Amino acid sequence: MKSFMCQSCGMPMQENTDFGQEIDGRLSQEYCANCYQVGQFTSYMNMLQMINLCAKYWKIYGFKNQDDAVKQMHMQFPTLKRWKKL
Ligand SMILES: [Zn+2]
Repeated sequence: MKSFMCQSCGMPMQENTDFGQEIDGRLSQEYCANCYQVGQFTSYMNMLQMINLCAKYWKIYGFKNQDDAVKQMHMQFPTLKRWKKL
C-alpha cells in the first residue's frame, strides 16, 4: 500500500478522511484534511509557526517528546512541498 505524508505538516495519511479535498471534491494526494480544504490551505502560516503548532501533537507523530519533535521537524519540513524553497 502506498503511504502518503502531508506535504505541509508531515502527518501520515491513510484513511480517506485524513486527506484534504480539492475544489471539485477529489481527495488531495499531497495535503491532509487539517491543512487543506476545498483547494486551499486552511491557514496561512510560515514554516516555523507550523512546526510549533505540530510539535504540540508529537504523540500522534510518534516522537519521543515535544523537543524531539521540534528538532526532527526542523530537518523534515524544509523537504516538504509546501515549504521547499524553489
Ligand atoms: Zn497537513
